[in-house]
Amino acid sequence: TYVIALPCVDITDKACVEECPVDCIYEGERMLYIHPDECIDCGACEPACPVEAIYFEDDLPEEFEHFTAVNAEFSAGLG
Ligand code: SF4
Repeated sequence: TYVIALPCVDITDKACVEECPVDCIYEGERMLYIHPDECIDCGACEPACPVEAIYFEDDLPEEFEHFTAVNAEFSAGLG
């Protein structure tokens, strides 16, 4: 799955939302999140992000690795 990380916080540009073919990017209070069970790994969102907040999970910089869980936990709460 793709993951949205720290650079999105308080930016929420939403260019990624326009690109996602399965509408699996959701808005929270301070950032956007990708639902890991809905993401089809197409990669369309990654280059759209103006702050480079989106990474394929295996390519996350070490300092952002915990955002895999952050995205999953938010998505689990969507019901
Ligand atoms: Fe949506 Fe594709 Fe990005 Fe997954 S990789 S969030 S399916 S645009």
